[in-house]
Amino acid sequence: MQREGSRAKRRRVRYRLPSEEVHVEPIRGSCLCGGVAFELISPPSSVTHCHCSRCRKARGTANATNLVAGIDAVRFLRGEDLLTTFKVPDAKHFTHVFCRVCGSSMPRRDEGRGIAIVPMGSFDDDPGARPGRHIFVDSKAPWDEITDGLPCFPGPPPSI
Ligand SMILES: [Zn+2]
Ligand SMILES: [Zn+2]
Repeated sequence: MQREGSRAKRRRVRYRLPSEEVHVEPIRGSCLCGGVAFELISPPSSVTHCHCSRCRKARGTANATNLVAGIDAVRFLRGEDLLTTFKVPDAKHFTHVFCRVCGSSMPRRDEGRGIAIVPMGSFDDDPGARPGRHIFVDSKAPWDEITDGLPCFPGPPPSI
């Protein structure tokens, strides 16, 4: 009976995606100054390293590592009024959302595609999910070498 009980408890706390275990508890994130805080309240569909030139410039890094989840997956706990949005004028989707005090990239809701996009570096908790692929590899910086063996796509992902 004891063993049954602990199994049932484990099932309530965790669930399984095809290749990984993901927390059900909200996963917290925040910006550098702490003015903006949020939590992820439902499981992600993917985590992707994007090497496109827009991501590189917006983040100032070799690539942007983004977690994608459902449109309602992100709940802001404070500082939503500090969020500033820049949409690249000729881009179909590309929008950079950041804290106007400290400049940290922050989650955004893409109403058009029905998704929420969360910069992985903004999490304070371990989100559980791990990067699964590289996209826009044809646009990567010349000094950037991909060595992790994950699937690479020359342009956009086959699916979000
Ligand atoms: Zn901030
Ligand atoms: Zn990109």
